[in-house]
Amino acid sequence: MISIIQVDRQFKSLKKEILAAVENVIDSGQYILGVEGKQFEKEVCQYLNIAHAINVGNGTDALVLALRALDVGVGDEVMTTPFTFFATAEAISRVGATPVFVDIDPKTYNIDPTLIEDKVTARTKAIIPVHLFGQACEMDKIKQVATKHHLYIIEDACQAFGVELNGEKVGTIGDIGCYSFFPTKNLSSIGDGGLIVTKDEKIANRVKKLRHHGSEKKYYHDEIGYNSRLDEIHAAILRICLTKIDEWNGLRVEKAKKYSVVEHFNGFSIPTSKGSKTHGYHLYCIEHPKRNEVIHYMESKGIGSGIYYPLPLHLQKVYQKLGYQVGDLPIAEEKAKRLLALPMHPYLTIAEQEAVIEILRAYQ
Ligand SMILES: *Cc1c(COP(=O)(O)O)cnc(C)c1O
Repeated sequence: MISIIQVDRQFKSLKKEILAAVENVIDSGQYILGVEGKQFEKEVCQYLNIAHAINVGNGTDALVLALRALDVGVGDEVMTTPFTFFATAEAISRVGATPVFVDIDPKTYNIDPTLIEDKVTARTKAIIPVHLFGQACEMDKIKQVATKHHLYIIEDACQAFGVELNGEKVGTIGDIGCYSFFPTKNLSSIGDGGLIVTKDEKIANRVKKLRHHGSEKKYYHDEIGYNSRLDEIHAAILRICLTKIDEWNGLRVEKAKKYSVVEHFNGFSIPTSKGSKTHGYHLYCIEHPKRNEVIHYMESKGIGSGIYYPLPLHLQKVYQKLGYQVGDLPIAEEKAKRLLALPMHPYLTIAEQEAVIEILRAYQ
């Protein structure tokens, strides 16, 4: 069986270094908000070329804390894509705001910037573009609308660590960037983890307070916050993985190039990309009109695949109360029926990838 994702290969390749780092943390006696976390924040700032980075518990919390830091809450609307992992919209709902879903671009699968302005109301506070599958959103156009209507931009860069747009790392282009270090993400740990980045010192300080029970000074609390921090063990592991991320993302891009032959096979289309480094291929999703049949066929040949995502968020049961109908966001709805993800990870072997390609070539 060739599986879609195999993170253990990444971690096994670094097992010796990781074990040494974990031992170090054990010996240090400091397990939360210690040296490793601070060093990781410093190193990640250098890597992303941004002033402030704050570790948090996971990517979902990063989004929640970002919204809270901008005082987005009850009565506010936040625009985002219906074609993303649920956590993006969940974060908006968790702070009491209302998600407003904007349809996607049929080629990039990212929020369609030309549709945003029509949905701006007096209540709109922010936009959360998601760099889906690792591909950078059209930030220039999104920024134009945001500036015109005084909206914040929170980038959901959970699937796109290290991806660049015009020389800037995604996540550092808007007001706040959010990342996840869930094991399957491009940069990940052996557990949960997340990060917030910002140029703005005031926002950074607010996030630091919020992640630690609304407290700046120990046992003195200014507001209701969260317990959301990155453990020292994960920070130590992430420091090691950070030195590998460019190599790993490069390997993903190489594999994406090799997969592009699939475009010539009957009925298939492949993802588009605007050039070097703008796509990190967190997932390599192709389209086929008979997607479900293709998946069964691949399964019968021992090839894993995945559906990202089977039901757009505006049609989820939990959001029935928002009143969206089938057909309201047609591109997202169509893509939910057509997309399937092929095996993609830095240590997918050439032989494995060739097997996947040959099996797709043979599909009629
Ligand atoms: C993974 C992911 C999240 C949530 O991250 P967690 O660390 O799992 O909480 C949010 N948004 C997107 C687009 C993601 O892929």
